[in-house]
Amino acid sequence: MRRINLKKANVARADTIRYINRQIVLNFIREKEPISRAEISHETALQRSTVSLIVDELRTRGLIYEIEGESTGGRPPTLLRLRAGASMAIGVDIGTAQTTMAVADLAGRVVDKEKFETDPDVRATFRRVVSGVQKFIRMHQNIEGIGVCVPGLVDPETATALFIPHFKWRNWPLASDLSQATGLSVTVDNDANAAALAEMWLGRPEIRDVRDFILVLVEEGLGTGIIFDGQVYQGVAGAAGEFGHMTIGKGAPVACAAGSEECWEAFASERATLARYRQHRPEFSEITFLQLIDKAFAQDEAAKEALLETAYYLGLGISNLTKGLSPEAVILAGDIARSWPLISGELRSTLAANTICSGLPLAPVFASTLGDDTRLMGALSLVLARKFASVVPA
Ligand SMILES: [Zn+2]
Repeated sequence: MRRINLKKANVARADTIRYINRQIVLNFIREKEPISRAEISHETALQRSTVSLIVDELRTRGLIYEIEGESTGGRPPTLLRLRAGASMAIGVDIGTAQTTMAVADLAGRVVDKEKFETDPDVRATFRRVVSGVQKFIRMHQNIEGIGVCVPGLVDPETATALFIPHFKWRNWPLASDLSQATGLSVTVDNDANAAALAEMWLGRPEIRDVRDFILVLVEEGLGTGIIFDGQVYQGVAGAAGEFGHMTIGKGAPVACAAGSEECWEAFASERATLARYRQHRPEFSEITFLQLIDKAFAQDEAAKEALLETAYYLGLGISNLTKGLSPEAVILAGDIARSWPLISGELRSTLAANTICSGLPLAPVFASTLGDDTRLMGALSLVLARKFASVVPA
């Protein structure tokens, strides 16, 4: 699902030329709609006649439609728009606490959504997912496929969930089970990879134009999604991005999912932050991470301190990643993004203090702009991005 580089989208020379050009034109319309044929031609350096041919094809397939633009004196220009309802996707975000399911159109707009508490019994959770999907299928048309993200390791070849640490689920053939139960094609990936894909396809413009970035997903654990040259870097058996288990120090407040107290996750995850807070406020042992953030905004000093220490460790880890991979940007995602105004200063100063040499440009760090549902948008992107990355030859 490599995203075409729109900035260098001159003309491909291989047999795939038509296919790639179609992808370029469709993505231009998606990102810049409403847009005229002339503008597409001007910006992509594709010939007018080529653009017209592709536009006709995309219209015939119902993916785009024409509208009349504002007249500036003469004949009003004809502009092109994406027909967002032409195909729909189902996204399933299986989280450690909640599972969120949604239907979205081609533009990533959610039109239906439901949530339930994830059952530690994998069969019970699966049954809820299947009945949710079946309900969506009854209520919505043009559903092309299902994208599922899980908080664990996924084999990209078989789309089997190899290991979900929180529930100790192992070797769950999720894609084939769900596809069999629903009759739809199913794509499965790790939640951090999926979230990174969502940022690339549906994120704000300053991220969409970035070819190399790292998404750090802070949740109960900590995972990263690496986008390398416009696609998710999977590594062997899909196990890339497990930076949550790089060694960062000793004596973390909690153990990581694998039992170590030296991993990044053990210092910077939600569990680590909550554990730090509880050391000072044992009376609030039951609060959630979001409640801790609320307390920090309400000037609870212990909550602020716990978050700032997490920000420091996030900064340390991110500085290690940027030294090794030199990305154009880093995105922080998960509920922690809500605390951005509180933590960004500490995070940035830790990064500045840990560069190889002063003067080296620092990769900007952003909070995710996909809101509270970064992972759900990730699950949806597993279907939507495929649609844009491969406008299937006619
Ligand atoms: Zn670990």
